[in-house]
Amino acid sequence: MPAVSGALSGGRFSACCPLNVIAMTNPHIEIPVREPAATSVDDTVLPFEISALDLRGRLVRLGPVVDEILSRHDYPLPVAKLLGEAIALTVLLGSALKIEGRFILQTQTDGPVRMLVIDFRSPGTVRACARFDAARVAEAIAAGNAQAGALLGRGHLAMTIDQGADMNRYQGLVALEGGTLEDAAHEYFRSSEQIPTRVRLAVGEELSAGARHRWRAGGMLLQFLPKAPERARVADLDPGDAPPGVPRHVVPEDDAWVEGRSLISTVEDVELIDPALSSERLVYRLFHERGVRVFKSVSIAAQCSCSRDGVEAMLRSFSQDDRDHMVENGAISVTCEFCSANYRFAPEQVELEPAGARDDPRPSS
Ligand SMILES: [Zn+2]
Repeated sequence: MPAVSGALSGGRFSACCPLNVIAMTNPHIEIPVREPAATSVDDTVLPFEISALDLRGRLVRLGPVVDEILSRHDYPLPVAKLLGEAIALTVLLGSALKIEGRFILQTQTDGPVRMLVIDFRSPGTVRACARFDAARVAEAIAAGNAQAGALLGRGHLAMTIDQGADMNRYQGLVALEGGTLEDAAHEYFRSSEQIPTRVRLAVGEELSAGARHRWRAGGMLLQFLPKAPERARVADLDPGDAPPGVPRHVVPEDDAWVEGRSLISTVEDVELIDPALSSERLVYRLFHERGVRVFKSVSIAAQCSCSRDGVEAMLRSFSQDDRDHMVENGAISVTCEFCSANYRFAPEQVELEPAGARDDPRPSS
């Protein structure tokens, strides 16, 4: 671990946008510098670069955003914590989108937490929810076995990029096999993208006397992106049940990447969520010996995309029979799973318009 707080007071950051990168490598050009911010700016993603090591990364710090999302639900603590980690991971990955669109991270597994869905929209809004089996979660808590891997169990994690109705969707899949979300992210980038990648995620509650607990989350992503692609090569999958004698495919890791992943492995959970430690100070603390440059940060907001019109359209698309089954006490009530907003309709409000008044009348069955 490099020298920490003692070196911080003299630490200077160059602040620039990516377009300035070429100019700034010229030593004769005056480089604008500023002191790192003293305190954390919550709900932001800070991109950074350590060009001496060909490393790029992002650091996300979430305060009110993750607190608002998790507080809207009454999830058991370990479920809320797991969803918080998934939110931090989604923001880290989704904020890299260069296009207008959505990035959706979804797990489907056989553990007590059956599903996590996190929906990120560029440039920076996010919503999230979890589905779980309350009895199995309570059992896991009672057995002291409510860590991320045990709650998720086995299944898969899907990452979908959706650029709108007329565009192709991209989906990446990775197996979840009793490990953490960090493990799944590493495996995804190793096998699908072949980019050496490390992710750190942390979630915690901020406790203050007299006030309610507040959720905080943080995460860091670091990737090795050398100009010469052969430096980023990664080993093939383990041959597994290959006959004895078949050699494993061993690829020595590049020294720059070994140094980068050693540095990110020293990040402690408390550093990722500490409101008194700014994002800039944290990346400086980790990487200052090699020189780190930060870029303009992006703001993140908690925002659901549900609406009364949207729910009404969905109800109209159901069959009359399905709608009839939804009527309780004379009304149809729909609660958004993401934000817990409740929408109530009188049954006649969401009935189909008479045939002929619609563009594509459905055959009545
Ligand atoms: Zn909603």
